[in-house]
Amino acid sequence: MLVDTHAHLDDAQFAHDLGAVLSRAGAAGVGRIVTIGTGVDSSRAAVRLAQAHPGVIFACVGIHPHEADRADDAARSAIEALAAAPGVVGIGETGLDYHYNHSSREGQRRAFIWQIELAAQRRLPLVLHCREAYEDALAALEPYRGRIRGVAHCFSGGLDVARAFLGLGLHFHSQGR
Ligand SMILES: [Zn+2]
Ligand SMILES: [Zn+2]
Repeated sequence: MLVDTHAHLDDAQFAHDLGAVLSRAGAAGVGRIVTIGTGVDSSRAAVRLAQAHPGVIFACVGIHPHEADRADDAARSAIEALAAAPGVVGIGETGLDYHYNHSSREGQRRAFIWQIELAAQRRLPLVLHCREAYEDALAALEPYRGRIRGVAHCFSGGLDVARAFLGLGLHFHSQGR
């Protein structure tokens, strides 16, 4: 059985035919799909989807770096509460995106670090979105060496960074958004 570790099933384009999407995935051998939160609302939606399709859809909850400047204390509390919900298998997506800089770098780092901390506390893997920010990402992750694991997607950091990420307990896939 294949597991799709990175989908955004809360996207509006799936609202009317999610059942058919899941059937086609199943027919193609994809038996489990992890749907990834990008903010509080989409993390709530991810948890709802996981609870509606137990054993098929699983959820990650977190704040995307693009949304980091909107991640106030209330958002942080909401994600921390959602992380304990049934069907939640990871924290994210989180990370740093210095390509688009939709949120300030400082805001991105702050939101990233509390999500690393949350993943370590709850012993959940991280879903890491990192773009043109590998040095800062490594610096943020390094203090948690031995307490974290996860998947880095959209990876284009080169061999040295790949080795450093592997050493920190991360895996890779090349696509994702
Ligand atoms: Zn994504
Ligand atoms: Zn991403």
